Amino acid sequence: MVIELTRLREQIDAIDSEMVGLLKRRLQVTAEIGEVKSRHGLPIYAPDREAALLADRRQEARRQGVPPDLVEDVLRRAMRESYSSQQTGGFRKLNPSLGPVVIIGGNGQLGSLFGKFFSLSGYQVRVLERDDWARASEILEGVGMVLVSVPISTTDAVIRRLGGLPRECLLADLTSIKAAPLEAMLAVHKGPVLGLHPMFGPDVANLAKQVVLYCDGRGEAAYAWLLAQLQVWGVRLHRVGAREHDGAMALIQTLRHFTSFAYGMHLAEENPDLAELLALSSPIYRLELAMVGRLFAQDPRLYADIIMASADNLKMVKRFYVRLGQAMALLEHGDKQAFIDVFKRVATWFGEYAPRFLKESGELLQRAHDSRDDEKAT
Ligand code: NAD
Repeated sequence: MVIELTRLREQIDAIDSEMVGLLKRRLQVTAEIGEVKSRHGLPIYAPDREAALLADRRQEARRQGVPPDLVEDVLRRAMRESYSSQQTGGFRKLNPSLGPVVIIGGNGQLGSLFGKFFSLSGYQVRVLERDDWARASEILEGVGMVLVSVPISTTDAVIRRLGGLPRECLLADLTSIKAAPLEAMLAVHKGPVLGLHPMFGPDVANLAKQVVLYCDGRGEAAYAWLLAQLQVWGVRLHRVGAREHDGAMALIQTLRHFTSFAYGMHLAEENPDLAELLALSSPIYRLELAMVGRLFAQDPRLYADIIMASADNLKMVKRFYVRLGQAMALLEHGDKQAFIDVFKRVATWFGEYAPRFLKESGELLQRAHDSRDDEKAT
């Protein structure tokens, strides 16, 4: 039996080694594709091509009796890798005559990330940091675009210092809230204005498929190049009104970060042994701990700023607090029927999204389960 097993394992080793060679070849070809795209200014993320490629390979997998989900998993992972390798060669500069891009707060987390992408595209990037205001006129000399990327609480004061920009200069920002900064930019600058909100943090490996929300300010024709440039970097754009944006963010960011913060606070007070909790955990609990724990690996000021950005945010969190109390009352009364009734009402509200989320989360949980070993092979 041992000999038989050894023989089969040797076959597996040979097949896996072939797969490594194939992946290497694939990466070499995708790097060449990256070069061609860069030369022609084409986006590194091509959704139609990606969808068609996956559909074709899934069909082929079915024909050959291989689970299509397995093939899709492998291909998606390979594609993610190739997006990272495709950016190292740089990107085409879509606005060759643009003057320097000045990033205010350019040494910060998001400012430096965007600075890197502008540089990779051949733009001249200058940084204006908090101690640089005495040299501001020198740094802003001949400026083509100003990008504000300072902490939310400082944004308004910084924008108000930008009154003397040349009329044709594009003024944009990356702030996680949109209505107030956009209003401030429109008031201080008479030229083109654009509000951006990247829906990602500084830890992303590349910008392929990352979402950037944008709010029109003024002079759409003068910033169309920037939206196209973001797409060349792989970004998916989504246009939204500034007030609509802030309303949605109260749920998408404020409430989520606040509940993670409160949950983390609760855990720290309860003080369980985290290693033990992880050892005992189901994949969903591990994922939940990871989602909460990742907050505390980041900058507390950013999250304080996001959660406390507006009076409307506070009202939203208070409404949540009231509902938590209502749910608590059900528990205290031990009223199972009332619990079931509320449960059904919420399920009806989720509608067809509930089963869809069940399926989607099942796939994520499977991945969390796959990476359960803390000691990865190197
Ligand atoms: P950060 O604290 O890492 O960087 C801010 C930078 O601004 C720092 O380098 C700081 O020195 C500089 N700064 C502070 N005051 C200044 C002043 N008066 N003049 C010039 N520079 C000044 O913050 P960050 O995480 O990069 O966030 C920047 C912006 O990006 C914020 O508006 C935030 O809402 C937004 N944003 C951040 C993230 C994220 O995950 N980090 C995601 C989306 C949007």
